[in-house]
Amino acid sequence: MKRHNFSAGPCILPGSVLQKASEAVINFDNGLSLLEISHRSKPFVDVMENARILALELLGLEGKGYKALFLQGGASTQFLMVAFNMLEKRASYLNTGTWSDNAIKQAKIYGDVFEVASSKEANYNYIPKGYDIPTDSDYFHCTSNNTIFGTQMKEFPNSSVPMVCDMSSDIFSREIDFSKFDLIYAGAQKNMGPAGATLVVVKEDVLGKVSRQIPSMMDYKAQISKGSMFNTPPVFAVYTSMLTLEWLKDLGGIAAIEKENNKKAQLIYSEIDLNPLFKGFSAKTDRSTMNATFTLTNGDLKETFETMVNEAGINGLSGHRSVGGYRASMYNALPLESVGVLVDVMSELERKA
Ligand SMILES: *Cc1c(COP(=O)(O)O)cnc(C)c1O
Repeated sequence: MKRHNFSAGPCILPGSVLQKASEAVINFDNGLSLLEISHRSKPFVDVMENARILALELLGLEGKGYKALFLQGGASTQFLMVAFNMLEKRASYLNTGTWSDNAIKQAKIYGDVFEVASSKEANYNYIPKGYDIPTDSDYFHCTSNNTIFGTQMKEFPNSSVPMVCDMSSDIFSREIDFSKFDLIYAGAQKNMGPAGATLVVVKEDVLGKVSRQIPSMMDYKAQISKGSMFNTPPVFAVYTSMLTLEWLKDLGGIAAIEKENNKKAQLIYSEIDLNPLFKGFSAKTDRSTMNATFTLTNGDLKETFETMVNEAGINGLSGHRSVGGYRASMYNALPLESVGVLVDVMSELERKA
C-alpha cells in the first residue's frame, strides 16, 4: 500500500534521497561504507563542505559573513548554546509555543529573559504582534514555525539587536529575507534530513561578546574554527542532509518548493474551512504551511475517521498531546498528492456522516 507520511518529525524524506543514503551505507567510497570511513578523509570532508555551501546558497547567505555548522544535540541544545554564547545580561524572547518556552527556560540559566509577548494564555493558537523589543537586549529570539500548535510567523520584527530564530520546522520551506537574522538554527529531522544533525547558520560578528568562559563543544567560534569537526560529526545525518539540500536545489530551490507548499496548505485549509465536520485550531492569519492542526467537530466520528485515515495509508496524523485532535505535517518532501488523499478522506467522511 502506498503510504502518505504526515509525521511531524522525524518526517518524510524524498525517496531518491533515501535510496542514495542507503546505497552509501553499503558502498560510499571504493567498497567502504559511509559509516566506516574516517570523517577526516577527503570524501567525507567534501560532504561536509558541500553541505555547508548548499545550506548557505539555498538561504541566499553566501558571501555575507555567515558560517554554516552541522552540530549535534538537536535544536534543544541550541536553546542553551545560543544563550551561552550570546547572553550577557538580558535577552528578549517571543513566546509562541512549547519550543519557545523551552528556549526561554534554558536561557534563564545564563541571564535575564524578557518575554516581549506570549500567546500562552490561548494555548498558543496565535502569534502575538505589535510588541517592542528593548534596544538594550543582547539579542531577540523567536520561533518561526510552531510545530506543535500549527502557527507560523508571517512577518518578523525589525530591530537593531541581533536576531536569533529557531527555524527547525520551516527552514528551506519558504522565502524569507534570511539575512535579517544573525543566528538561525534548525534540527535536521523536520525539513532537512534524519535526526542527529542540527544546522546552525551564524554571522560571525555577533560572537565573542560575552564575558563567560565557553566550553569548546558549546562554543560556536571553536566549532567554526574546526569546520564543524571539533569532534566526530554525525556523518550519516550530515550526508543525508546534503542529499536533501541537493534535491531541493535541483527542484529550483526554496522559491520552487514554496509554491508547492502553498498549494498543499491551501488544499488542506480550504477543506478544514468548508467541511463542517472539522475545525482549525490556530488563528487563520497565523496558520502554518507546514503543520495544519485541526479537530473533529463531532467526537463521535473519531473512530470512523481514524479507520478511514488508516485505510488510506495515511501515517502520523495524530495531534500533539498538548493540542489534541489532528496535525497534518506537510514538509517539503510530502507530495501534493498525499494532501489530496487526506482531503478526499475528510470529504468522504462528510458524505457518509
Ligand atoms: C522539534 C523542534 C525542536 C526540538 O528539536 P530537537 O532536535 O528534538 O531538539 C525545537 N524547535 C522546534 C521549532 C521544533 O519543531
